[in-house]
Amino acid sequence: RLYPPDGGRVLYRGQRIDHLDSKEMQLYRTRMQMVFQDPYASLNPRMSVRQILEEPIRFLRSDRSRSTIEDLVAEIMLQVGVDPEWRDRYPHEFSGGQRQRISIARALAVDPEFIVADEPIAALDVSIQAQILNLMMDLQQKRGLTYMFISHDLSVVKHISNRVAVMYLGTICELADTESIFSTPRHPYTQALLSAIPRLGEAGFRHERLKGDVPTPIELPSGCVFHGRCRHAARRCTEEVPALLPADERTMVACHAVEERRI
Ligand code: SF4
Repeated sequence: RLYPPDGGRVLYRGQRIDHLDSKEMQLYRTRMQMVFQDPYASLNPRMSVRQILEEPIRFLRSDRSRSTIEDLVAEIMLQVGVDPEWRDRYPHEFSGGQRQRISIARALAVDPEFIVADEPIAALDVSIQAQILNLMMDLQQKRGLTYMFISHDLSVVKHISNRVAVMYLGTICELADTESIFSTPRHPYTQALLSAIPRLGEAGFRHERLKGDVPTPIELPSGCVFHGRCRHAARRCTEEVPALLPADERTMVACHAVEERRI
């Protein structure tokens, strides 16, 4: 709801939430939070860490006393590996990895059950990425969190996910448990994507090169959005949008060729 939706529906635990007003939405905001890609841009440079972490608690959990909030902030900072002694410092006094830890702490401050993490490690040095990933997995275990983890890094996706949805031009092509996606990808785009992962020690490794370029999302192609680049495309693909259908008991695929058992 940072942007008003211009189509579709948003369901949370089966309840439609895209049409709620801001007061009704408040209940859901304590349950769901977000971690943004860029920890430099997503923390207010004029607020100390203490203010950044206290603000959501005061706003969404107004029943908490001042001392409880202070204790909570210290506890969350410890959980994400930032010394609570630094609570009066400002974002520019921290490294990129530490800032992302503070972003995660801010998301945890209202004790959510669901966190949308939008490319949370893409802006960090490779050496720091693993630390943040391990922190997120650790917190997931300790707090029973659910993440929607958005990433273009397939090795990270494989490492952290239980279930994977592969998207192309804003459309879900394939949805399956992680093992099925990586061992037996069904959609032609998923297959091409996975074939592009370099394999160490495999001589003569060749990946599938897709023809053409990604079309502009402003003018989506008719039918299947992937048809201009797909080697299995047929006439039906240019005319009819494929529905996301079960391909087997573990995988859902949006592809006419899979539905027709051509591939
Ligand atoms: Fe390719 Fe057609 Fe399947 Fe789209 S629907 S992925 S164009 S075969």
